[in-house]
Amino acid sequence: LSEKLGGILDRLTGRGALSEKDVDAAMREVRRALLEADVSLDVVRSFIDRVREQAIGATVVKSVTPGQMVVKIVHDELVATLGADGQTIDLNAVPPVAIMMVGLQGSGKTTTTAKLARRMTQRDKRKVLMASLDIYRPAAMEQLAVLGRDLDIPTLPIVAGQKPAQIAKRALEAGKLGGYDVVLLDTAGRTTLDEEMMSEAAEIKSTANPHEVLLVADSLTGQDAVNLARSFDQRVGLTGIVLTRVDGDGRGGAALSMRAVTGKPIKLIGTGEKTDALEDFHPSRIAGRILGMGDVVSLVERAAANIDAEKAARTAERMRKGQFDLNDMREQLLQMANMGGISGLMGMMPGIAKMKNQIAAAGIDDKILKRQVAIIDSMTRAERKSPDILKASRKKRIAAGAGQNVEQVNKLLKMHRNMADMMKAMGSGKRGPLAGIAQA
Ligand code: GDP
Ligand code: MG
Repeated sequence: LSEKLGGILDRLTGRGALSEKDVDAAMREVRRALLEADVSLDVVRSFIDRVREQAIGATVVKSVTPGQMVVKIVHDELVATLGADGQTIDLNAVPPVAIMMVGLQGSGKTTTTAKLARRMTQRDKRKVLMASLDIYRPAAMEQLAVLGRDLDIPTLPIVAGQKPAQIAKRALEAGKLGGYDVVLLDTAGRTTLDEEMMSEAAEIKSTANPHEVLLVADSLTGQDAVNLARSFDQRVGLTGIVLTRVDGDGRGGAALSMRAVTGKPIKLIGTGEKTDALEDFHPSRIAGRILGMGDVVSLVERAAANIDAEKAARTAERMRKGQFDLNDMREQLLQMANMGGISGLMGMMPGIAKMKNQIAAAGIDDKILKRQVAIIDSMTRAERKSPDILKASRKKRIAAGAGQNVEQVNKLLKMHRNMADMMKAMGSGKRGPLAGIAQA
């Protein structure tokens, strides 16, 4: 979500169950973020109600901040609302299977028809025929014919003077005669939602009896797309939605609204003008985009699996007091190793990447995490608590005990000082050390 949400979430520092006050504060920001992402108001309202219900009283997973917990709950609800993964075009019918594209003019129907034909031909090895039913714009049929020639996929020969439903009928006959698996019907749109377009689409549908009726909608049109989806579904009946221009939409709100309003699955997304820019729809990716908070969710999941809350809380407490001894450092090193090392953390949190230089300077490296733990393991309790007492003879003994040399012991001690400074500088103390790192 917005940076503001991040701010609010950072302030949620209580532990245990999420309080009503915390949740309400977070929900105000979630609401704003969703509206900014162009999710329709009704959808936002019911969404917030559902999340709120789940969040209040939810137990905060060990060693995760309440803010991160809220993000996870919001994310999971987004994914649930967006629908299941892997909703694809259904070709399970007697061939030729008719697939009809509907939508406003300029939404991407013709482009999507070509993209789909290409995918079905090249990837699925189907024999595909494309037909343009757009008799209103002189260039429309030619546009599809050109795309077909480029892709080496046949298009129905253009015959002047036929009505869209007649062309659909002719396309299916040609499909049957030619032994095609699939016939794609690219219909004509209008600039606005109008009755003529709806009745024409309904007529084509009753003539061609398509197995799929896909609404092609521009993800940038936001709110209008929702009304469009609702009308088409009521009037013509949809089996799925294709969202186009997702490449230009950083927000992803239209997907959520359309899905919530129609209940129809989003089956594909268009991510560019070229005919290979067609992708399956993955709810969790769009949810991540709407949330826009890096992959906090998987961080929470991994943290929940790997980190012992009490230890983290103890370390945080010690850091608050300005104490960060080698025992704490050992704990940190082990946690990092468990979470896929520094590179794993970097991949998950956009924030931590900013610390790259500090981390490099501190000499933290996945390969040597274990070695460093070994060095600390060969220290006495007193040495771990007060590294200052480590003079030459002690260092020699420790190095020998860990099977390393004194230089490596010195490196570790320097790194400990750097880490202690770094953590102090980040002013973390309220939350676990990990949250401190993630937040930087
Ligand atoms: P139609 O009127 O619904 O048939 O729309 P078209 O298929 O002719 O597309 C209209 C314009 O949108 C064309 O310039 C396409 O190249 C462009 N377009 C279609 N889909 C996408 C997409 O997913 N991403 C981007 N960036 N452009 C697209
Ligand atoms: Mg067109």
